[in-house]
Amino acid sequence: MSVFNDRKYVVMAIFVTICLVFIGRLFYIQVFNDDYKLSANNNVLRYVTDYPARGLVYDRNGKLLVYNEAAYDLMVTPKQIKNLDTMSLCNIIGMTKEDFIKKVKAARQYSPYKASVLAAQLSNSTYATLQEKLYTFRGFYVQSRTLRKYPTKIAGHTFGYVGEVSDKVVEKDSYYKSGDYIGISGIEKAYEKELRGKKGLKILMVDVFNRTKGHFKEGKYDTIAVTGANLISTIDAELQAYGEKLFQNKTGGLVAIDPKTGEILACISAPGYDPNLLVGRERTKNYYKLLKDPLQPLFNRALMAYYPPGSTFKLVNDLIALKEGVLSSEKTYPCPGGYHMAGHTVKCDGRHGNISLRPAIQHSCNTYHCYVFRSIVDNPKFGSTKLGYTNWREHVLRFGVGKKMYTDLPQELKGNVPSMDYYDKIFGKDRWRSSTIVSLGIGQGELGITPLQMANIMAIVANKGYFHTPHIIKKIGNSNEHSKMFEKKNYTGIEKEYFDMVYDGMQDVLERGTAAGSRVKGINILGKTGTAQNPHGKDHSLFVAFAPRENPKIAIGLMVENGGWGASWAAPIGTLMIEKYLNDTIARKELEKRMFDGVVYPPHYKVGTEFEEKTAKKDSSKTVSKNKKEDNKKEDSKKKKDKKEVSEKKKSSDTETKKPAAEKKSEKGASEKPETIEKNSPKKGDKDKKKKVENKSDKKSDSSKEKTTKKETVQSKKNTPQKEIAPAQIKKDATQIDSTKK
Ligand SMILES: [Zn+2]
Repeated sequence: MSVFNDRKYVVMAIFVTICLVFIGRLFYIQVFNDDYKLSANNNVLRYVTDYPARGLVYDRNGKLLVYNEAAYDLMVTPKQIKNLDTMSLCNIIGMTKEDFIKKVKAARQYSPYKASVLAAQLSNSTYATLQEKLYTFRGFYVQSRTLRKYPTKIAGHTFGYVGEVSDKVVEKDSYYKSGDYIGISGIEKAYEKELRGKKGLKILMVDVFNRTKGHFKEGKYDTIAVTGANLISTIDAELQAYGEKLFQNKTGGLVAIDPKTGEILACISAPGYDPNLLVGRERTKNYYKLLKDPLQPLFNRALMAYYPPGSTFKLVNDLIALKEGVLSSEKTYPCPGGYHMAGHTVKCDGRHGNISLRPAIQHSCNTYHCYVFRSIVDNPKFGSTKLGYTNWREHVLRFGVGKKMYTDLPQELKGNVPSMDYYDKIFGKDRWRSSTIVSLGIGQGELGITPLQMANIMAIVANKGYFHTPHIIKKIGNSNEHSKMFEKKNYTGIEKEYFDMVYDGMQDVLERGTAAGSRVKGINILGKTGTAQNPHGKDHSLFVAFAPRENPKIAIGLMVENGGWGASWAAPIGTLMIEKYLNDTIARKELEKRMFDGVVYPPHYKVGTEFEEKTAKKDSSKTVSKNKKEDNKKEDSKKKKDKKEVSEKKKSSDTETKKPAAEKKSEKGASEKPETIEKNSPKKGDKDKKKKVENKSDKKSDSSKEKTTKKETVQSKKNTPQKEIAPAQIKKDATQIDSTKK
């Protein structure tokens, strides 16, 4: 019995305990717990993202290039909207009622419970007015964030821009929420992770009158935002600004590198644009305006435009030939005014007689360099054109051409050095010889090189055999770790002594050769001019150089589109940049003024007007695809676009097929006349006219010789990748070749 009684008490005790627990819990909930107190008071919690300040960017000398400015977004949580005076709110933020309704609808579709941006980047005065009345607009609050500012207005392409994150990124990366900002191109994109910092979260209590009542649980659940890291760029802001001024009213690209480190000192694409245009509420409008500009200011020519390197490439072939033992500095070749082959002639600008390496560089002798190229490809040790060509190509790739160098800039393209399969496809399997592709010897034909690659080749020559991967950021935060990534030396496999052999010729170029007019007193500049053929108009003007000869500090590569001879525009601009960097002041004021004032635009473009309608249409379609690239759309969508473009181009090149193949084959533009700088520009014009006339006469005589129509079509196909700027096309070609490989 007693056992039974005991059990009864135990059960009762358990029952009482449970009751007490419930009562206690109820008491706690009613008296102590904030969660329920909150809802009982009809308060709501608001989750507010705490956006960190984005990292700042400085130039190599500590000058501030990018900073932040406060901006305010009006946010809406659709489910919380109550008794709204729509007109009053619309008046304050300057929005039409229709737009307002559309925006709220879109926000509701995104989420009725989560906040969305209703009006982005309100001005300070709007924000002040709004702040006073905000308590009357339930469901709305202001989110502060920062906008980028570029005080120097330089290097738009290099900095890139920041914009709203795409839905795709939000899906892929949980860090981003709809309405967040992300770096879309340039440094802003490449260093997004470092620059963005880490978002924080504030949980605020808000009462029925839309008033903030402090942090929930005194901020116990808040997380603190971490400011983004500051970056030190390799850019020399003063040099960059100077270069941009030299390039005003011109189109083209320039890159200057410190050969000792691979640090990019200046990276110019002309025309440029003020990076501030792509910030704030006017961004979209400005973007489309730039996109429609026939001069394609959004296209980063310094990293993305492929140009045939012309005579500047002769140095690379000389170095390869010396390394392969098929050339010595004493070896001479006869130049009777051109290089004659069965079908055609590669013309030279002079009759140089028996000429050796040093004067061949100084005078940029085409004949000599055709011999040099053929000696590399036909080297008996390989026994076949294909193996000889493959060996040549591998050498060239080691100069950072035809493949990506993996710089820290997202827009870098790889350039084009055609593969063996490419030629098999164009000429037929085993139906091409070194003579068929001899134009590669003078930097023409299918070669496509970006100004960045031209500058890098000069860094290699300055370093006598190797390069550091070019880069734009040297320091992240306070750590020096980043620059260590670029300490590695990328060797070309060509020994120092061979570089010594081309140095004298390069020095002669400026002392008494093709760029004598651009000589700088007191600075020993070693360089090479070039002229790249342009089927659309006047040739492009090229120049590569480094200085000083001992202990080089700057290597440069540049191109002025439609600039004609290398000595006309590229060499003066290039040497002025070197003079500015090394001396800080310019002694050649007259030359400087001429470059500042010079206007060099494509043939159809007249300042202040648009291209002829036809051209404008064609070009703007090009721009679209290029900028898509800039935005780094997915590869395959790019390919599709490119395919379309190629077919368009083919159409246009088909009409050009009628042009005799010999126009290309004459290779007239590849060599340079020794030129003391012209005091008056008409002289230059005359020279160009003369050149064109010669070109035409070549065409006539040679085209009658070239009767095989097959050869003609082959030539025109060959020309296709060398359209003015056609990276997409070349990419396409490369893709085709890759796929045939597979
Ligand atoms: Zn010659």
